[in-house]
Amino acid sequence: MADTLDKKQENRNTIDMHYQLMDTDKSTAIIQKAMDLAREEIPKGKVATYIPELGKSDPHQLGICVYPIKGEKICLGDYDVRFTMQSVSKVLMLIVALEVCGLKNVFKKVGAEPSGEAFDSLVELDVNDSKPYNPLINSGALAICGLLLPEVSFQDMLRYTREICSDHEITLNQAVFDSEMKTCSRNRSIAYLLESKGVITTDVEDTLKFYTKMCSLNVTAESLAALGKKLANDGVCIKTGKRFMSSQTARIAKTLMLTCGMYDGSGTFAIRVGIPTKSGVGGGLLSVSDKRAGIGVFGPALDAQGNSIAGCKLLREISNVLRLNLFYDPEWNKEDHYDTVVSNMLETSVGI
Ligand code: GLN
Repeated sequence: MADTLDKKQENRNTIDMHYQLMDTDKSTAIIQKAMDLAREEIPKGKVATYIPELGKSDPHQLGICVYPIKGEKICLGDYDVRFTMQSVSKVLMLIVALEVCGLKNVFKKVGAEPSGEAFDSLVELDVNDSKPYNPLINSGALAICGLLLPEVSFQDMLRYTREICSDHEITLNQAVFDSEMKTCSRNRSIAYLLESKGVITTDVEDTLKFYTKMCSLNVTAESLAALGKKLANDGVCIKTGKRFMSSQTARIAKTLMLTCGMYDGSGTFAIRVGIPTKSGVGGGLLSVSDKRAGIGVFGPALDAQGNSIAGCKLLREISNVLRLNLFYDPEWNKEDHYDTVVSNMLETSVGI
């Protein structure tokens, strides 16, 4: 009997430990090691070139900032290099739309299902009467912009972004904006198709500009971590107590990040990493380890789905070792979370 109780207590301790990050020095050493491993992926990726200005990025850059709710911020590598937010901004557009326009109006315009298609796809948009699959792909975000346009200005969005990212140096990258506006025929097609279906009712060119400006905001891995930290804490800044969104909005944003944040790579990423994350073709990743930490990553070399190739590897490694996977079982493989039988099994099964 006593033996069983001891065992129970031991299990409890392991579970409690799970909800705390390790101490800063240990975590820093682990993240550093994960960075070294992740760098090996860089040659397999490519920087985005369909927006010509993005093609100028140095593919070898890699940076991370882990910002725990309790504890010190850990910043490594190119954590302070500026890059454009791109699709990571879709999370902000969704948050503001939910707050300003309300849940019903948002989900009248977009669905909440993964698309299984490329981020800029328009394949399914016209075959049936459907609305965009979700707000985190281009068609869905353009629909959200149509909803936002009569309610908030780009300057309002910029102010909100600076505040929620705790970064007052965020500005519009004019060169990237101009470059994308010249080459955005796919997004323009999507937006006009959405207008023809009655999803976008605002001026299409203005809607497209608003969307592209949000994508062209210059952030750092550190600013994304600060945003992630507020999402991890259900929308409230732990330092000031300021609420940036309702906890319902934070919950919806995190859920959609988990199911749809990595486009047609979302399912595999959820199995491998298990942390709600949103990627952008600028190489950014915004991750939210719920109730624990916000994480920002920057690595501009991308995989086939347009997600940072080294960034994904980095998150996979630290998720395993720091036990950040949402579905982590404290009883599972206590000694070594690193190179487990299970992950070996996953490696060899159906492409995962
Ligand atoms: N601005 C980019 C586009 O609309 C964003 C895409 C992305 O980051 N995946 O194509």
